Amino acid sequence: MKLSDKIEVIKGIGPSKVKLFESVGVRTVDDLLNYLPRTYDDRSSVKTISEIVEGEEVSLKAELAGGIVTNRIRGGLFYSRGKIFDDSGTLDVVWFNNPYAGNMYKLGEEYAFFGKVRRDKSGKLQFQNPVAERISGDSKFTGRIVPIYPLTAKLTQRAVQDAVFKCLEGLREPIPEVLPSELLERYSLLDSETAIRSMHLPADFELFERARKRLVFEELLLLQLGLHRLRGEREVEKCEPFEPAVVGESVREFSESLPYKLTFAQSRVIDEICGNLCCDSPMTRLVQGDVGSGKTVVAAVAMYAAVRSGFQACMMVPTDILAEQHFSNLSKMFAPFGIEVVYLSGKMRVAERRAAQEKLRTNPAVIAVGTHALISDDVEFAKLGLVITDEQHRFGVKQRTSLAAKAVSVNMLVMSATPIPRTLALVIYGDMDVSVIDELPPGRTPIETYSVDESKRERIYNFIKKNIDEGRQAYVVCPLIEEADEDSVVADLKSAVEYVGLLKHTVLRDCSIAAMHSKLKAAEKTEIMQAFVAGEIDILVSTTVIEVGVDVPNANLMVIENAERFGLSQLHQLRGRVGRGTAKSYCVMFCAPNAEIAQERMKVMCDTNDGFVIAQEDLRLRGPGDFFGTRQHGVPEMRIANLFSDMDVLKEAQVAVAEILDEDSALELAKHRGIRAKIQRMFERIEMS
Ligand code: ADP
Ligand code: MG
Repeated sequence: MKLSDKIEVIKGIGPSKVKLFESVGVRTVDDLLNYLPRTYDDRSSVKTISEIVEGEEVSLKAELAGGIVTNRIRGGLFYSRGKIFDDSGTLDVVWFNNPYAGNMYKLGEEYAFFGKVRRDKSGKLQFQNPVAERISGDSKFTGRIVPIYPLTAKLTQRAVQDAVFKCLEGLREPIPEVLPSELLERYSLLDSETAIRSMHLPADFELFERARKRLVFEELLLLQLGLHRLRGEREVEKCEPFEPAVVGESVREFSESLPYKLTFAQSRVIDEICGNLCCDSPMTRLVQGDVGSGKTVVAAVAMYAAVRSGFQACMMVPTDILAEQHFSNLSKMFAPFGIEVVYLSGKMRVAERRAAQEKLRTNPAVIAVGTHALISDDVEFAKLGLVITDEQHRFGVKQRTSLAAKAVSVNMLVMSATPIPRTLALVIYGDMDVSVIDELPPGRTPIETYSVDESKRERIYNFIKKNIDEGRQAYVVCPLIEEADEDSVVADLKSAVEYVGLLKHTVLRDCSIAAMHSKLKAAEKTEIMQAFVAGEIDILVSTTVIEVGVDVPNANLMVIENAERFGLSQLHQLRGRVGRGTAKSYCVMFCAPNAEIAQERMKVMCDTNDGFVIAQEDLRLRGPGDFFGTRQHGVPEMRIANLFSDMDVLKEAQVAVAEILDEDSALELAKHRGIRAKIQRMFERIEMS
């Protein structure tokens, strides 16, 4: 049997089983050997009959004490019974619906049994439906750790086990090794053959751990090398370092111009950034901070330091609304220093855009803010020294890569409010330094969060009214933009436009209400947003376009409709729009009462304001299959590695990746050929967007 053989060559696999295996992606012997167990049954400790306890699963070595009698019972079912014995005693055995039980065992032969022991009606211990096999050199189903495979409806456990065991026995060629032998040695990894065999039939759990570690290591190594290739060769060119004295002075000056004191965490992160800026290799740093932790001002300090050091700085954001907002904030911050902030968006009129581009091309002392229009080919910078991307996770892999290409030997800072667990950050942003702003500015009271059902609607509207009467503003978030089709399953989802109409019939009828959604023109959105910022609009009914970064401190109340439709991290982002001022803030989530997972999610939201905790819970509730948007991040799904718990292996793999790239960054050496081919296959499966 060869690895490339179709599974038909395995005895016992006919056309119908071929189809079943195909449905789980298994076509060849190689596929089957890579179809790894989901868990294991520990049948390794063998007991004697006298030791067994009711309810326990046990392995026994015993002989038949007489013939097996099979009877037909109601409904054409079979019922077989017999007796087995060992040196310590005897035990009744029954099989349900196994008409061949009587023919399977011979008197005078010793068998290994595995199964559950229960009591029969008379209270006697009874072995029920045990699996059994003759004791020979290598038992598979008893007296050892037995693999349990993931299944689909019709594929049975025994069928998969059987097929895998036959493969392991019948394979007449070695399982190829993709990792160079020096790597195996250095990281004390099992070779591929041993690892695969031990994953299926581990001699003990220690060997299983080593086998798993080896495969996790390989997977994470390939993943990171693959992402590296995807990012493209980032030339490690030198860049002109900023002058430390100038940078230090800029930070002091800028900080003093602020109406508040920087938090300890902000200062620490600024120091980390300055360290990079004053060094002659370009910065690549990720700043993570929960919503409201004050990332913008950290970015502003860095941009100021750049301009004072004779460089331009630019900040790229994912949406026009956010770009507008940053533009207006940064313009205010930089006005006292006489530094011009230039706005650039794809939606600008040609003449405006030309004028903006002209400034970037000629004026070395400007700061630019905009959408990804900033990285289009016709934008030229006079002397770009710092590129910042805000809400980085909202950009596609492609945009990220093209920015990286444009910013060769330029300092790069990316900011993200999605608290990606560190392990994942390491993978996605592989070669980056990571800073965390793990502290909120003082005076923030946690947002009080409630999950409610329809019966509370009137009360909630009254509550909104009360807050507005006190001079506050509110957000209402709905999942859809326009009236859904009547036959649509989501017909009852509130939509922003329709919702505004509904509010006109409630106690809120006299409030100033506006709808914001993605179908509006950019200028309309901006106009609405400006009116909301200025306090002219009391209630902003919106789809998730407000999710990212918008800051209106006077808005202290958020109502989220159909909250069950949103993911946890998304709810947290949304909620982060309030709680930005001094007034007590509230988040009220309307949630369908029947969705169980939704209820659990709502509870998490009500219990904590910590984005990192929420991210972890999000993962737990979604389960590893839907690894909170790993796909969205452009990372292929992991077959075996767990990006949360395999942190240690990940770190080791990272070191190995660096070593490999150092020696052979294009993976051209013969010893890396296997790795290269496997990376290609791994990344073929993900769709690049
Ligand atoms: P995010 O990290 O979500 O982007 P922002 O940068 O928008 O957060 O900051 C949120 C709010 O906190 C802004 O109104 C900002 O002016 C304010 N802020 C930032 N840093 C501080 C600080 N150290 N003390 C008080 N307020 C601060
Ligand atoms: Mg922000």
